[in-house]
Amino acid sequence: MNNIPDINIDQLIERYSVLLFDSYGVLAGSTGTFPGAVELINHLNRIQKPYFILTNDASALPGTRSDKYAAFGLTVSPDKIITSGSLLKGYFRVKGLQGSRCVVLGTEDSARYAEEAGAVVVGPQDEFDTVVIGDQSGFPFVETVDAVMTALFRRLDRHEHTNLVMPNPDLIYPEGDGFGMASASVGLIFEAALNLRYPDRPDLCFTRLGKPHSAIFEEAHRRAGTPSIRDLVMIGDQLETDIRGAIDFGIDSVLVDTGITNADARNIPDGLRPTYRMHSLAPGT
Ligand SMILES: [Mg+2]
Repeated sequence: MNNIPDINIDQLIERYSVLLFDSYGVLAGSTGTFPGAVELINHLNRIQKPYFILTNDASALPGTRSDKYAAFGLTVSPDKIITSGSLLKGYFRVKGLQGSRCVVLGTEDSARYAEEAGAVVVGPQDEFDTVVIGDQSGFPFVETVDAVMTALFRRLDRHEHTNLVMPNPDLIYPEGDGFGMASASVGLIFEAALNLRYPDRPDLCFTRLGKPHSAIFEEAHRRAGTPSIRDLVMIGDQLETDIRGAIDFGIDSVLVDTGITNADARNIPDGLRPTYRMHSLAPGT
């Protein structure tokens, strides 16, 4: 990564009022924490440095995620965890979707996010007017996709409007020492099928809510209570979500090389250049 200056975590703590961290690929993976993450979070908690975790995950409520972190030795209170699932609430409010019959592909917590947004959650065999893809896990995959796709096609054939919402725009995520399919890959299956059956309906795609879109950054700024967004810095491992989101929102960004990005600087397009790169999370390194 030529010409992208290095920074360390102590400098970031000094330079910015509020640190925003991605979760997967930065602090933790599915099986445990990344090197330095526990020391860092302990340090931030001890000095009472404001920070938030901005995650595109919509499979776990903040409380559930906090408990999972605790099992890894990370002490993060639920109010510091901002998930893409929690953005459903604002989306449903703005779009007037409260009370809509909603089928949710995902975990029990994914369905809870929809309920908290005001949806009436129904099963794939029931009548629905909103489809939420909350996660790629937690349901019988092929059977559910088949049932929802069939019902969706029938609705569209009857010219009935259907809302399509996907909190998590991620296609893949780090899984163990490899990669896993994330929820937007499920969305692509639907979108490819919709495009095949309704080629003159380019509008038939899922609204994506999480990073790189601004709503999650706006929520962090609101919770931080800082006057200027320039007080915030985003620390992430993905160019297309963390870094693009930070750039579009107008804040500085830090790319860590622990996660998903194949971070050869020569491959980073000019429009996606992070402000800094960082090699270790651990304070004092
Ligand atoms: Mg990540």
